[in-house]
Amino acid sequence: MTDPDRPTRSRAAATEQGSRRDRSRPPAPEPLPHPVVDNHCHLDIADGPDGAWVEVDAALAASAAVNVPRIVQIGCDLEGARWAVAAAERYDALVAGVALHPNEAPRLAAAGRLDEALDEIERLAGAHADVRAVGETGLDFLRTGPEGVDAQRESFARHIAIAKRLDKTLVIHDRDAHAAVLDVLDAEGAPDRWVMHCFSGDAAFARACLDRGAHLSFAGTVTFKNAEPLREALAVTPQDRVLVETDAPYLTPVPYRGRPNASYLVPLTMRVMAEVRGEDLGELCAAVDASTERAFGGSWGRTSG
Ligand SMILES: [Zn+2]
Ligand SMILES: [Zn+2]
Repeated sequence: MTDPDRPTRSRAAATEQGSRRDRSRPPAPEPLPHPVVDNHCHLDIADGPDGAWVEVDAALAASAAVNVPRIVQIGCDLEGARWAVAAAERYDALVAGVALHPNEAPRLAAAGRLDEALDEIERLAGAHADVRAVGETGLDFLRTGPEGVDAQRESFARHIAIAKRLDKTLVIHDRDAHAAVLDVLDAEGAPDRWVMHCFSGDAAFARACLDRGAHLSFAGTVTFKNAEPLREALAVTPQDRVLVETDAPYLTPVPYRGRPNASYLVPLTMRVMAEVRGEDLGELCAAVDASTERAFGGSWGRTSG
């Protein structure tokens, strides 16, 4: 069985840009006035400069201390998906999403293993009630070139079918592929519940997704200086469709860009979101928390107090 006491991989090699860069963990921000869920996190990816890894217990304690007591753990390949299922079984605070990431699908297709891998994803998605989501799936035209597009589309369509068969929430990854993502969704038919993770479009694209029933999940990118169109998208999204995420260990919010991200940094993003929307922070947190439960098919892991 997969062991959630060990990471599945490290991001250090891929993101290290010279050893002088400050890669230390940012300090904890002021706690939120009301709990929210980090609805997209990769706890299995070690984020430290030397592959250092924060154990799940420590990560959950740090995030709970700032009022981020619950997390959706996303597994991006077969090993990560097995890890996510095992972690969700073990920790009340976690539920899981399982999928083959859009950048993973072309590799598996080239090796002739996409079909069997999708079968295993479907098995894992149905393995436990705490697997709430099929994702992240979708399209990534930034990291995968034209040669991988067919495999990405096929994998995305197959994940949509799995989500519908098993009544799971579909979590979509969209990198530089807005129109193509909607094309596939329209052709296959969106499931009842779907989330555009790390939403990266403008207000018009937000409306196109909302019209199709989406919840839009905003990450640390919404705090970035050059993200004005994204903030406009956030501003037009109804309160009951807004979610927040880290996508940790990636996409660390301002002022800690480039350092390791984790769920305990969600308050930095939530504060900017409340400011952009001109809403009370506590009220927005309560709305995001309720929306997250609706988006992921009901409550889980609420502890007293
Ligand atoms: Zn993603
Ligand atoms: Zn992700």
